[in-house]
Amino acid sequence: MDDRKSPPRWLEHGARHVWRPYAQMKTAPAPLPVVRTEGVRLHLADGRVLLDGVASWWTACHGYNHPHIIAAMRAQLEIMPHVMLGGLAHEQAYRLAARLAALLPGDLDHVFFAESGSVAVEIAMKMAVQYHLNRGARGRTKFVSFRGGYHGDTIATMSVCDPDEGMHALFAGALPEQHIADLPRDENGEAALDALLARHDDVAAILVEPLVQGAGGMLFHDAEVLRRLRRLADAHGVLLIFDEIFTGFGRTGTLFAMQQAGVEPDIVTLSKALTGGAAPLSAAIASKRVFEAFLNDDPMHALMHGPTYMGHALGCAAANASLDIFDRNAWQADVARIAARLEEGLAPCLGLPGVADVRVKGAIGVVELEKAPDIGALTRRFVEQGVWIRPFNKIVYLTPAFVTTDDELAQLTRAIHVALSR
Ligand code: PLP
Repeated sequence: MDDRKSPPRWLEHGARHVWRPYAQMKTAPAPLPVVRTEGVRLHLADGRVLLDGVASWWTACHGYNHPHIIAAMRAQLEIMPHVMLGGLAHEQAYRLAARLAALLPGDLDHVFFAESGSVAVEIAMKMAVQYHLNRGARGRTKFVSFRGGYHGDTIATMSVCDPDEGMHALFAGALPEQHIADLPRDENGEAALDALLARHDDVAAILVEPLVQGAGGMLFHDAEVLRRLRRLADAHGVLLIFDEIFTGFGRTGTLFAMQQAGVEPDIVTLSKALTGGAAPLSAAIASKRVFEAFLNDDPMHALMHGPTYMGHALGCAAANASLDIFDRNAWQADVARIAARLEEGLAPCLGLPGVADVRVKGAIGVVELEKAPDIGALTRRFVEQGVWIRPFNKIVYLTPAFVTTDDELAQLTRAIHVALSR
């Protein structure tokens, strides 16, 4: 913060009490107090306005305060904010489930709602384990996941993250042990994974972020990798889970990343942009085959899960409104346009000292550095230029809202070039 205006009182009062994400509370610089959002802009308490390059961890895909989403949430609020889904039903969740089933390829038709991405992944993992149990196969309790992957911060999801990023060594003993492998990027990789699956009969499912491993390093792979995983899962009788929490809802250029590979998983997880960034909501969505393994006269075959706020009505109203905006179909041209602007705008960074790689996929632009920078100093340089960009590790990235204009994209990419040039 600069000192043009003193910070708001609520920040000073609350700062001792709010334990912030991924922050060393002893040394972390003060957060920027945001008093209002509008489109692709964050309004700070001191009057400054920042152009947002990350859309609040990739959630606000239509920009903040989208009038259609706000109107839908207001209307829902007048009727009822929420009722529990245990024994009760409400229109927004039921409409949303049917719409998601219709939008997803194949027979991914059975929607289990939750509130956060991590919990949706936990539910998908639980579904996979119980799927095998319900079919009489005991001992399939482990997962194959991949280096570079990120699936959440809860105990089970940490265990399937990249071992370094997920801090497996730090939490050794607390995390269930999984089979962490390299993505099968070629035939040799496929053979290696084939051998791993042949050696281990304890695998319930293979879990992967399709096309883009996001928070684990913004790493891209091609669609053939997903086709290999589908073949291997089928050959070894294990399920395939796609975690589309980052890639879902247009980010990679198709509504879901899996559509670029032409393969479907047995379970897919969604969250983040599901509500256009307006409310927390997630889902684990199962295929017919998975769902039917839970149908039985024995109550113990039921999926024993039920988050209190699952299918939150206000969140589902936001999600239904967000899907209305996707239905208008402007997003596809916008993502293609953003990809082109990010390619142009970030390309000059490749010549800068300390830059290891520049890559773009859909509305994701990445500048990878050779070593981790001083994140605080770099973030300040962005703020000085009027943009909000939040690097992690060696990664400086943009995941802008799809409504970000060409001029705004140029401002974002220029800010990265200027900041990295110093
Ligand atoms: N899975 C993926 C692919 C993610 O990108 C994230 C969050 O970044 C998660 C899971 C966890 O979601 P949440 O932070 O809502 O728990």
